[in-house]
Amino acid sequence: MARLPDEVVNRIKAEVSLVRLIESQGHALKRQGKDYVMCCPFHADDTPSLVVSPDSNLWHCMGACQMGGSVIRAIGIGLIRIAMTRSSRRCKQP
Ligand SMILES: [Zn+2]
Repeated sequence: MARLPDEVVNRIKAEVSLVRLIESQGHALKRQGKDYVMCCPFHADDTPSLVVSPDSNLWHCMGACQMGGSVIRAIGIGLIRIAMTRSSRRCKQP
């Protein structure tokens, strides 16, 4: 698979809203100061320990798993699931 140029990856990380994407997945984000928190889906979490920062557009679990990263990482490990449409599945590589 072709790799996206770094400038495209950096633009996605900066311009795609992590908060909006996570909310679109049905996760309940709760405002906490300038950040948002939610229960971490990657470990047993009774109190919200996953922090999403709109300022940096990064997320991090302050609990047991300590996972975190950018919007790209959130997609890569399934925090955000991207649905493929029928037309994109049929698309052939050039
Ligand atoms: Zn966690």
